[in-house]
Amino acid sequence: MRQLIAGNWKMNGTAASLSELEAIAEAGVSAACDVLICPPATLVGRAVSAARERIAIGGQDCHAEISGAFTGDVSAEMLKDAGATSVIVGHSERRQYHGETDAVVAAKAKAAWRAGLFAIICVGESDAQRSSGGALEVCGTQIAGSVPPGATAANTAVAYEPIWAIGTGKTATAGDIAEMHAHLRSCLSKQLGAEGAKVRILYGGSVKAANASEILSTPDVGGALVGGASLKAADFLPIVRASAKS
Ligand code: PEP
Repeated sequence: MRQLIAGNWKMNGTAASLSELEAIAEAGVSAACDVLICPPATLVGRAVSAARERIAIGGQDCHAEISGAFTGDVSAEMLKDAGATSVIVGHSERRQYHGETDAVVAAKAKAAWRAGLFAIICVGESDAQRSSGGALEVCGTQIAGSVPPGATAANTAVAYEPIWAIGTGKTATAGDIAEMHAHLRSCLSKQLGAEGAKVRILYGGSVKAANASEILSTPDVGGALVGGASLKAADFLPIVRASAKS
């Protein structure tokens, strides 16, 4: 399966950033992988226009309900209406700063499917959990609680993002990534049967041009979820090209 290289702009970007997106889209159109950028919600509609169908545009989060009295929230249907094709759910920053539980994340993934969006469901352990030897169990539990029945390779990818590697410049070793992805693969297969063997598992956590080739050629890495290095075309495009080579 083609790898997916997804950029998460987080709470960064205004209209001035669309020139970066245009440059990513222009080069991304001929990439050997799927390319997705998830700008802040305020930019989704304009990003869709700027991308001119050359790359996909997604949201960074969605509410589980279609509409209602949820001030400040955005539904999956609203993202779809704005032209998004995907949405990230359960990012560790949502789990940490917004108290999102596995059950909330699972409800958001189902909302994404209801709206016809592809869901990228994030899991990952903290530094303390890894140091105490609990990383595999923590992420396995998150998979069990956050990936609803009905997940397929066509509607879902999982992103393994160790929290201690996000935005820190630290990356997991290729050995740690291979071990975790093999574990997540086995959890997905138990949970989803044959489809679990096909769902892409992305790695995220300080992916950049210098480490992308090694990470993307690690066994069972189905792509990358990229934060900081997705904001500038000059930083993001080498990662897209590294995918083509791996
Ligand atoms: C992320 O936010 O999903 C992420 C992986 O960030 P960074 O690449 O900056 O570590």
